[in-house]
Amino acid sequence: MVTEALRAAEAVEEKEVVDLLQALVRIPSHYPGPGEAGVVAYLEGYLKERGLSVFLQEAAPGRPNLVADLGEGEGGLLLEGHTDVVTPGDEALWTYPPYAGVVEGGRLYGRGACDMKGGLAALVGAMLAVKRALGRPKRPLRLAALADEEGMMLGVKAFLKAGLAQGFRGALVAEPEEMEMCLWQKGALRIRLLFPGRMAHGAMPYAGDNPIPKAARFVVALRELEARLQEAHPHPYLGPTYLTPTRFLASAGEGQLNVIPAQAEVALDVRTVPGVDHPSLLKELEALAGVGVEVLEDRPPVETPREDPLVQAAEEALRLLGLPARLGGVPGATDGTFLRAWGGLPVVVMGPGRKTLPHQVDEWVDLEEVVLAARVYAALAALYLA
Ligand SMILES: [Zn+2]
Repeated sequence: MVTEALRAAEAVEEKEVVDLLQALVRIPSHYPGPGEAGVVAYLEGYLKERGLSVFLQEAAPGRPNLVADLGEGEGGLLLEGHTDVVTPGDEALWTYPPYAGVVEGGRLYGRGACDMKGGLAALVGAMLAVKRALGRPKRPLRLAALADEEGMMLGVKAFLKAGLAQGFRGALVAEPEEMEMCLWQKGALRIRLLFPGRMAHGAMPYAGDNPIPKAARFVVALRELEARLQEAHPHPYLGPTYLTPTRFLASAGEGQLNVIPAQAEVALDVRTVPGVDHPSLLKELEALAGVGVEVLEDRPPVETPREDPLVQAAEEALRLLGLPARLGGVPGATDGTFLRAWGGLPVVVMGPGRKTLPHQVDEWVDLEEVVLAARVYAALAALYLA
């Protein structure tokens, strides 16, 4: 088993991985913008040419998911990455053009280099290495290159709804985590509360019902609830739960300073750790606010047990390649959140690239780290599928 893992790791070809990464970065895939279709078309041709069976699934109009398979049967491993990137913003702020894929000092620069075309190229490099070293593995290896991770995660949701994760035993997500084995991912809720009022002349507040003090009292009271949750649910890898107000709106219109508005709106970005139950938290927020909560997005906190075979394969693969097995947590949600929460799969999020670089100007990834990641993935797959 160890020999097979080492053979798979050695079959990773550095130039193949680097060239693919550069090609992927050179195809813009931010949304809104060109979206994922260009990257997916490129990958489709690339993988078919190399003997993998590939099909596309529409996640949303013009926004395909790509699925590539090696081997068949039950109990396989999903390799997951997203193909979309965030906007480059003002291109003049970049040292190298964001879609040039410039290599300098061992780093490849560009939008998506770190988040997460580096990880995606490493997954593909690993899959091809497994094919070269082991032929057809005993259990299947499926690459899921999904759309819209940076948005509403429509890609992974469509992938799961179509049953494309069924029959698989675990998922490896290649998000940039400095090759830490992230077994925990924070949950997220985006919610909105509307505090009703009644318009009136500002000179006669008693004639109306001002929603602003009600909304303000709620926002102040949140601090206490947040402190209570933080104390009740400490987490060594994810840090505290946050209830963060991100919008506070109330106005009767531009310049209408003598009018009590009819409504106040508060939006919250809630970040939770395992143990914080979203349905009960929402009830608590409603009780605190005295109004209903509108849930715009609900991503539960997830964890994978330390003793899961996937975690053990990851640990052993890292060790075989001379890397430390460090545990970690993901502060935001990823596609892995839904693979775990909806798909029920054990998930390890582990990829090349600095954690803090995604979405920044002059995003880069270390090429040596990407190639090493591909070797770790190949070894992991060989161990897990044995
Ligand atoms: Zn990402």
